[in-house]
Amino acid sequence: MLLLLLLLPIDKHHELVLNVFKSIFTLDEIKILVEEQIRGLKPFKPGIVKLSLEKFHPESHKVTLVDDFMGPPSEPPIIENDLFDDPRNYREIILGSYSPMHSQGVITFYQKNIEEYCRTLISRALGEGFHCNLANTLFSMFYMVETTWLHECFHYYCDYKRSFTHSSINRNLEEAFAVAHSRLEINRSFRRFEFCFADIINIFGDQHITLEIEQRRALRAYLRNLERFLHQTVFSDFRSPGYRDWRLYNRPDYYHRELYEYLKDNHLENLRSNNFIPVNEFIRHELYMLKDKGAELIISMV
Ligand SMILES: [Zn+2]
Repeated sequence: MLLLLLLLPIDKHHELVLNVFKSIFTLDEIKILVEEQIRGLKPFKPGIVKLSLEKFHPESHKVTLVDDFMGPPSEPPIIENDLFDDPRNYREIILGSYSPMHSQGVITFYQKNIEEYCRTLISRALGEGFHCNLANTLFSMFYMVETTWLHECFHYYCDYKRSFTHSSINRNLEEAFAVAHSRLEINRSFRRFEFCFADIINIFGDQHITLEIEQRRALRAYLRNLERFLHQTVFSDFRSPGYRDWRLYNRPDYYHRELYEYLKDNHLENLRSNNFIPVNEFIRHELYMLKDKGAELIISMV
């Protein structure tokens, strides 16, 4: 089992979590975090590492999350601005980008920006009373990388589907869908976090572990509150036009119905309404199956 895991290629987003982790903490801090975790692998005890992250000024938390999605000019946002703080009062952080397919779609992660956001995010979590230990800090970073990956995979899927249906792009609407999609899908990703967590312990703790079922359950249970906090905090930081409209697509059934409306063409609609083929349901399966298959993934340090 161990040999198989060592032979598996590391996904780009797994590699990115490791990069972000290694850049946010010093090597000494990492060793303490890992040693503490090894001693308390089952109970997940609170950590003793004290980070400069805890002293972040509250102003530094005022951010609005966006990505770069190249396409035609935006349509007006759906939710009017007066319901929200003006996003211009917030610092814009670009987490990733998607470049539409010519020969291949390209998903880019902006590592420095993801690091910057993770610092403020972990600082906020510590301010809320979460302990500074390996499980909490690594999971926060994983959560952000995974959210960004899911978001860009969504643009990739829409691009792929549009190559058949030739439906038109509405950038603000697509951003709302992309944020809603990452929010709905993120809780499926925990299994990948378990590999990431074990990987850090193996690399820095000179161990060769895979988590037992009981340890995986304990880890999941331990992180449940943090997961809730991240779910609330991260998605509230999507404040820019379009992105903030994810709230309208918060319910899976409605989101999938509207997504079909966005991507369909007359041919698909005829198949659905005249031939009773549930092409609208296929979209959710295709989206789930495609992920980033066929796209190029790049980690940018710019
Ligand atoms: Zn986007």
